[in-house]
Amino acid sequence: MKLNPVISSRVRQIPESATMKIADIAAQLRSEGRDIISFSLGEPDFETPENIKRAAKTALDRGETHYTQGSGIPELREAIAEKLKEDNNVDVSPADVLVTPGAKQAIFEAICTFIDEGDEVLLLDPAWVSYEAIVKFAGGKPVMVPVSEQDGYVPVDLQSHITRDTKLLILNSPCNPTGAVYGKNAIKTAAETAEDHGVFVLSDEVYEKIIYGAKHHSIGSLIPDRTITINGFSKAYAMTGWRLGYATAPAPILQGMLKIQQHSVSNATSFVQRAGVEALRGDQGAVRAMVAEFEKRRDLMIDGLRKIGIECALPRGAFYAFAKVSQFGTSVEVTEKLLQDALVAVTPGSAFGPNGEGYVRLSYATSRQNIEEGINRIEASLARA
Ligand code: PMP
Ligand code: GLU
Repeated sequence: MKLNPVISSRVRQIPESATMKIADIAAQLRSEGRDIISFSLGEPDFETPENIKRAAKTALDRGETHYTQGSGIPELREAIAEKLKEDNNVDVSPADVLVTPGAKQAIFEAICTFIDEGDEVLLLDPAWVSYEAIVKFAGGKPVMVPVSEQDGYVPVDLQSHITRDTKLLILNSPCNPTGAVYGKNAIKTAAETAEDHGVFVLSDEVYEKIIYGAKHHSIGSLIPDRTITINGFSKAYAMTGWRLGYATAPAPILQGMLKIQQHSVSNATSFVQRAGVEALRGDQGAVRAMVAEFEKRRDLMIDGLRKIGIECALPRGAFYAFAKVSQFGTSVEVTEKLLQDALVAVTPGSAFGPNGEGYVRLSYATSRQNIEEGINRIEASLARA
């Protein structure tokens, strides 16, 4: 007889990652020979730039194949501290930096370090799927604050959602899934609200470099004593598979994160950290070229959707279109129809929070040819409805 596995209530209450699940279904269908166009996963389709690969190969050949310091190699922490100062006006020393295996791990460590049972965490709904899951896993209570398309998906009223139990606000600009970029005033208002109410901020800046004509503002430059800034290499340098990210935070929080890291993954992969140094210090031409291409794809995707009668706000950063499809059914119904009938994979907006219902997310981190073909298929499928 098969024993019923006993799964902890903390794990039972969190869903599988919707973004990764749809991507897996698309990959499975493709392996069965179905001609799927995938707008599901948010991951650059470009190769990691050559200079970065070379730095990893050199480190590997040099024998850098052992554990590193839990917080990361000094050279990378130095390069990150310099980057934070130059790009973000966040004035930290290498000792204030923790290198992690991906930004996701940094977010996990930060939330687990900071959140106690019952603590409330404000999430701007729609919000990236993993925040809510990790907050729940840590025993916290996610509070979904709806942000509307009319307001450019920027929070207008945070104050009324703050209670005595509110401990953390998660900001993500440029935003996954809406592509919103918060301007200077929005960041300033969020900083003042956090300060006035004694709330901390986790600022997820992984899409910082993927931005179209707008300027990125880091809240950590305004309220460093209450900000955990998280960033990574996956998006800007097309390094999703390398698993490299980092955080800076007030010392006691960073210490807590380091403990979790020491007891779980030890450190980010040794030679990958060398690649990170090259990514930050080497030529940035490849980043500019990738962003220029993403911008062309964005225009193609948004124009294409609008031409076939689907409303969509213009994303100013990241590589997602958050499209309104409520006239065709619920988010999940439209997602299923597009997958079965159009062979196009998208992510249902409802996976990002109740306020995402009626929308689907389309990642345009794929070729222009795929975008054109995908839009044609969506048009034909919806006409068959
Ligand atoms: N934050 C956001 C908003 C994301 O979309 C992602 C997905 N890659 C991550 C964090 C995690 O990035 P990483 O690959 O560095 O773990
Ligand atoms: N962040 C990307 C996405 O939203 C990759 C998958 C994930 O990490 O959730 O599609």
